[in-house]
Amino acid sequence: MSTRPYYIAGNWKMHKTRAEAAELAKDLVARLKGGKHKYLVAPGFTSLETVGALLSGTNILLGAQNMAAEEQGAHTGEVSVLQLKDLGVRAVILGHSERRHIYKEDDALINKKVKLALTHGLEVILCVGETLDERDAGQAEVVCETQTVWGLAGVSAGEIGSITIAYEPVWAIGTGKTATPEDADAIHASIRTVIGRLYGGGAANKIIIQYGGSVKPDNVSLLMAKENIDGALVGGAALKADTFAPIAAFAAGQPPAVS
Ligand code: PEP
Repeated sequence: MSTRPYYIAGNWKMHKTRAEAAELAKDLVARLKGGKHKYLVAPGFTSLETVGALLSGTNILLGAQNMAAEEQGAHTGEVSVLQLKDLGVRAVILGHSERRHIYKEDDALINKKVKLALTHGLEVILCVGETLDERDAGQAEVVCETQTVWGLAGVSAGEIGSITIAYEPVWAIGTGKTATPEDADAIHASIRTVIGRLYGGGAANKIIIQYGGSVKPDNVSLLMAKENIDGALVGGAALKADTFAPIAAFAAGQPPAVS
């Protein structure tokens, strides 16, 4: 079981109108009140203002799902760090596998975004993870190591505290397949070793490493019971309070609730 504070984040992806997002946010504010862990939700850009107003003063942080690599300028269709901050965004998810694989974002671009976000005082959730082919080829650890090292290039020791890593095996995202707690923990441990090599043992011990990939109310506690798993980045199950609230309220090491 992790000795670090747990961090549970919901990624709403390209779902929900403003009215739908507001309904979910209100429900979560009520149900996560007094919760023991750190919480964040990342609605679509169009709902950030609406959801941000509802989260203000609560224990749920407002996050964004992506941002541009440039501060501002002629970048049609992009959203800047300044615009996100203006809406009260506190953290940004970068390097999500859908950004890497569908929109072909590479490590250099992701790294540029990471540094820009940190310069502007945003926290970052940096996603890393291997494809099924890479796992089958025995490359899972090295892929995650490479993405971690590249993603953090130029990030200072003073900034590493604003970084959360999310290990999200690509083959487990939105597929219903979850890494076993043992397999996930092994990758988390290797990422922690990389952080130790780059920033020292203190930083390695402190960094929060979330697991993401079909996290559900019935598998969260067994995942969180592992020593190196410090939270979850949740996609599908974050779209309903009935599934996100029990994930947010998990008790590490407890068997799944019987429904
Ligand atoms: C995600 O999108 O980050 C994710 C983990 O999705 P899901 O929980 O649906 O697998």
